[in-house]
Amino acid sequence: MATRFTYTSGSFGTEVDGEFERQLLAARSAAPAPLPHVIAGREVAKGPVFARVDPANVEQVASRAHAAGPELVDAAVAAANAARAQWRRTPYAERCRRLRAIAEAIGARHLETAARVSLETGKNRAEAVAEVQEAIDLITTYCDHMEENAGYEAPLLSFVEGERNTETLRPYGSFGVICPFNFPFALTIGMSVAALVAGNTVVVKPSEDAPWTGALFAELALPHLPEGVLNLVHGGVETGRALADAAVDGIAFTGSAAVGREIVAKLQGGRWARPALTEMGGKNPAIVTASADVRKAAEGVARAGFGLSGQKCSACSRAIVLDAVYDEFVEQLAEVTASFAVGDPADAASSLGPVINERAYERFARAVADAEADGRIVAGGRRPDLPGFYVEPTVVADLPRGHRLTREELFLPFVTVTRVATLEEAIEEANAIDYGLTAGIFAEDQGEVDRFLDEIEAGVLYVNRGAGATTGAWPGTQSFCGWKSSGTTGKGGLGPWYVPQFMREQSRTVV
Ligand code: GLU
Repeated sequence: MATRFTYTSGSFGTEVDGEFERQLLAARSAAPAPLPHVIAGREVAKGPVFARVDPANVEQVASRAHAAGPELVDAAVAAANAARAQWRRTPYAERCRRLRAIAEAIGARHLETAARVSLETGKNRAEAVAEVQEAIDLITTYCDHMEENAGYEAPLLSFVEGERNTETLRPYGSFGVICPFNFPFALTIGMSVAALVAGNTVVVKPSEDAPWTGALFAELALPHLPEGVLNLVHGGVETGRALADAAVDGIAFTGSAAVGREIVAKLQGGRWARPALTEMGGKNPAIVTASADVRKAAEGVARAGFGLSGQKCSACSRAIVLDAVYDEFVEQLAEVTASFAVGDPADAASSLGPVINERAYERFARAVADAEADGRIVAGGRRPDLPGFYVEPTVVADLPRGHRLTREELFLPFVTVTRVATLEEAIEEANAIDYGLTAGIFAEDQGEVDRFLDEIEAGVLYVNRGAGATTGAWPGTQSFCGWKSSGTTGKGGLGPWYVPQFMREQSRTVV
């Protein structure tokens, strides 16, 4: 059986050693000419050029791309809309065959792709290799769902003599796909392929922090798709806005709650409301009770808090700990945190690469200043003297309840520890935020676990997971639904009800 590289598998086989690092160094010295948009199968090199600096070494440019304004976005949407009918009529089995071929093409260039992900995001080897595996598994999972449901066509009851009733899910038409920087390959592919397998055409906007990774998806996918089915425009938030304003039939979005809400509002307007499928961040808690295995809890919180430098919607950013084990937990978490090495992703020993950009780097400095003023930093807190956006994994204890650092999503390797007296208080504190994406508990007492499962307000729950207290969701094995400000649809990616959201029902009564 082929090796499956997941986030929680720990180390990756020795065959990855050396080759990933070689590929990363090659990608660093190969910054391409400004990347073009891809519209109706043709490269379009128009619009102002922006540069993406290498987050591991800000003296270097990782990639450059042209930014699309509203005219180019409209041209891409026109191409996607022109291809709608042909793609909709392509039998789902044929769509799956083509998409599975893209998964194979990705697999054949796994480490090269992982290196490019690492170059633009600063991911370490394990995270970058796992991300490419996740992209492959997302394609397979969504194709499986389409096939297992026979293209989502089913008979309905028929009570009237001579009438035959059927039910089918039909694609909306075209989707704009607005992608995040943190999983620029896997989530770009996840959202796009879900739209495509359902029979929609797409216009993809990669993150402005990872345009070269987005371009690689297009390069690998285009040979397997008819012209106009997949289009790609580069740019920042203005390009994303233009896409939400354009004549697409829906938007799939992963990113911040503020931008997501803006997109939802845009899609509610117009001649009729269009679907906006969003996944929008979190401030995810892990509760540690008096019955917990405290060492496992510390490891789980550290892995979930500092994996990918905390830049995951699923990252654990709040430990909420019962008084009886609070001091022990803080000590253990500080110890585990100190064992994480910050450094260049090209060094296999690095646990944390740089954070994504200067904004994140400055946000870290502000968070540390607030933590120093109002709490007690027990690990980290510094920005190492390295040439990129490097910050230390940081743990802050004893902040007052309700402090902004325990409420706002920072998207940094930054975990707060809050002391509570009872499980009831812990759950109240966990639920006191606007987000509801992931949550974890460490407790050996089944009654405590049951109460948590019943009362916690979040879409992805983990019990006693030392490999990542609130993280590590994987296609087909978890669903990834954001409650409250973490999402708007009530059904998440990775799970069995994601693909149907890219379609709408039609029932047919035929006499
Ligand atoms: N699937 C990833 C995890 O559970 C997180 C994806 C995200 O942050 O959007 O760790």
